[in-house]
Amino acid sequence: MKIAELHIYSHDLPVKNGPYTMANAQVWSLDTTLVKVVADNGLIGWGETCPVGPTYAEAHAKGARAALIEMAPGLIGTEALPLTLHRRMDGLLNGHTYAKAAVDIAVHDVLGKHLGVPVSDLLGGATTDKVPSYYATGVGAPDDIARLAAEKMAEGYPRLQIKVGGRPVEIDIETIRKVWEVVKGSGTRLAVDGNRGWTTRDALRVSRECPEIPFIMEQPCNTIEDLQKIRPQVTHGIYMDENSTSLNTVISAAGTGLVDGFGMKVTRIGGLNPMRAFRDICEARNLPHTCDDSWGGDIIAAACTHVGATVRPDLLEGVWLAAPYIEGNYDPENGIQIKGGHIALPTGPGLGVVPDESQFGTPVASF
Ligand SMILES: [Mg+2]
Repeated sequence: MKIAELHIYSHDLPVKNGPYTMANAQVWSLDTTLVKVVADNGLIGWGETCPVGPTYAEAHAKGARAALIEMAPGLIGTEALPLTLHRRMDGLLNGHTYAKAAVDIAVHDVLGKHLGVPVSDLLGGATTDKVPSYYATGVGAPDDIARLAAEKMAEGYPRLQIKVGGRPVEIDIETIRKVWEVVKGSGTRLAVDGNRGWTTRDALRVSRECPEIPFIMEQPCNTIEDLQKIRPQVTHGIYMDENSTSLNTVISAAGTGLVDGFGMKVTRIGGLNPMRAFRDICEARNLPHTCDDSWGGDIIAAACTHVGATVRPDLLEGVWLAAPYIEGNYDPENGIQIKGGHIALPTGPGLGVVPDESQFGTPVASF
């Protein structure tokens, strides 16, 4: 089965009660990019990539589409097999993993449909039909975030992630303390995500002033060197998120014991095929991790859920989806939803979601 056609769409996803605030970015709406692959047997596969604005990562929506347009002519006629596809894409364009991820996901979708199996089977097999999620608060006032934490805990989320950074660190410390008052004794796990926004000075201070609160620090500072500097000085676990841009970085961070786990984005690492390798590296070193995406709709949500379902359950920190923060679904019947803090693994072949493509309008480019 070969790729016969490739269509690229741009679609706007408004943020519910926007903006959503992180240390380095505020977003009101998201410009997502969808890829439709049509195979030579007529089967269709969908992929998606949606950077959360232009400052969260070294990625932006128009860049994704430019990279896809650069590669697309050379992908026509390529076998719809994940490893073959990646080698072909790497031969056409260096880097730009977040754009390659959209084609990778579309190829997994069409291959699953061709073989009559869900994508989780292609990735080695699901261990569950209900994947845990986690809720990420924005950066906000301590009392508001504590209230939100109580609400989300009551909804059934097994883990909460508190966004911090981009403001005086005293307010971050007050927020962490107020949330802990709510969470303490419940068994709900806590992550504090700096999104690169703290100096090493701030990270050291937070760890020293909150020694009794068992949170993990996710990407507290900007660089790998910052993490190396704070690593021997803090008592809290450190997870790497934004810095883990490739399998090479992951191997170094895991191999040198720099981190205790990862926040990982399916699109940042390049799609489901490298995500599978990432999952196996983490399992070899007993490192917990998430299976997230930055943002996006049902397609990326389904991809994250499928790979999340294949992770060894005690290592899965959850699958983060944008679904609670955006309006509507692409698939009116089987759209991905979070219920009780968990996501049902889609059934049916491929990704298990069928978008109503009339929402996406005319393709930006077709090959
Ligand atoms: Mg993060």
